[in-house]
Amino acid sequence: MKIIRDRQLATFTFVPVEADEEQVIASIAAMLKPEGKLSYGGRGRDGDDDKFCTVHLHAGGREEKRSETSGNVTMHHTVHVDSVELILRGSTDEDKREVNCIRDTCYFGSDGLIFVGETEVDGKKSIIITAKRCKHCGAGMIRYSDCDWSTCDACAAKCEHNYVRGAVRGGGTDIGVGMFCNKCGRGKPKAEGEREKSVIEHHLAAEKELGMTVLYSGEFPGTPRQAVELARLARSYNKSRRGAVK
Ligand SMILES: [Zn+2]
Ligand SMILES: [Zn+2]
Repeated sequence: MKIIRDRQLATFTFVPVEADEEQVIASIAAMLKPEGKLSYGGRGRDGDDDKFCTVHLHAGGREEKRSETSGNVTMHHTVHVDSVELILRGSTDEDKREVNCIRDTCYFGSDGLIFVGETEVDGKKSIIITAKRCKHCGAGMIRYSDCDWSTCDACAAKCEHNYVRGAVRGGGTDIGVGMFCNKCGRGKPKAEGEREKSVIEHHLAAEKELGMTVLYSGEFPGTPRQAVELARLARSYNKSRRGAVK
């Protein structure tokens, strides 16, 4: 799949490259109405290392809860039934990087994508999607942090920020402690001459203030799996904090 990002409109256009992709895109375009949902059904591997992933998306059908018991452990998960499945796999490295971004957006912020409409690119039927609608103005959003806080840049610019101290992620630190607005999620701008905290300082602050120990194994700053796990912890911490300040 070729993936075209439109920063201005906050959309991605999925242009099929392989024949089976053409079929799936055509079915989705026929099935979904504008604002129809593509549910996130997890990621897969794309290649032998963990550099790139695929993203599983489902249109139509329904979700069913399943549980499997093995010994005294019961696992609950959701399966998609009678849906059209789109496995998003980037064609070039550039497309693959976009698929990784889409996965982060789905996982951390939007839990799926929204069908905006169909179009034609290079003579191929393609679909235009966004990830989530801003809760204030309804604008589309595709960055995971915007989706996580359901607030677009334009609305964040108008926010009367209320900065609190808490877990922050991204910017190469996995997790750290910083000031962010508990309404729009944006970080507090640095004061004149304020020094950027190092990754280690962020991790130490996370341990001291949040009680989270950051472990390194092998290469610094740890594996992508750990980075994802840490981001998840930061997310649940921020969620609980948001609940507490209401
Ligand atoms: Zn907005
Ligand atoms: Zn704000």
